[in-house]
Amino acid sequence: MTVARSWRTRRQRYSLVGERCEYCHNAIFPPRDVCPHCAEPAQKEFALSGKGTIFSFTTVFDPPAGFERYAPYPVALVQLDEGPMVTAQLTDVVPEEISIGMPVEMVTRRLNEQGDEGLILYSYKFRPTLEPQAAIV
Ligand SMILES: [Zn+2]
Repeated sequence: MTVARSWRTRRQRYSLVGERCEYCHNAIFPPRDVCPHCAEPAQKEFALSGKGTIFSFTTVFDPPAGFERYAPYPVALVQLDEGPMVTAQLTDVVPEEISIGMPVEMVTRRLNEQGDEGLILYSYKFRPTLEPQAAIV
């Protein structure tokens, strides 16, 4: 495998790869090859920073099959710094401390395990941004 190819694969697994529209320059996530803003074809790969803020959040008490043992768990609508919105599970956070506008960053976490095939799915979650706040004195 060439260096370029393994880098490309790594980016797809460990970062949020969307697309950037070359016509209106909006960031697009998830990749859909057509810009939702101007309907032009958009296929230019673009790695998002994975940083954003919580736009809204809720707690899932009645999860889909396979996630029962994680319930209840917090899910947020995150507005990425580049603009797109993603829905993702929150992690490393005390539920009482979640608030709208809270800065968050993406982490790659094990999402689910399917015993029989031993298939493990990894996906992204978001956690509160660990960098020190500028406001702290
Ligand atoms: Zn566009």
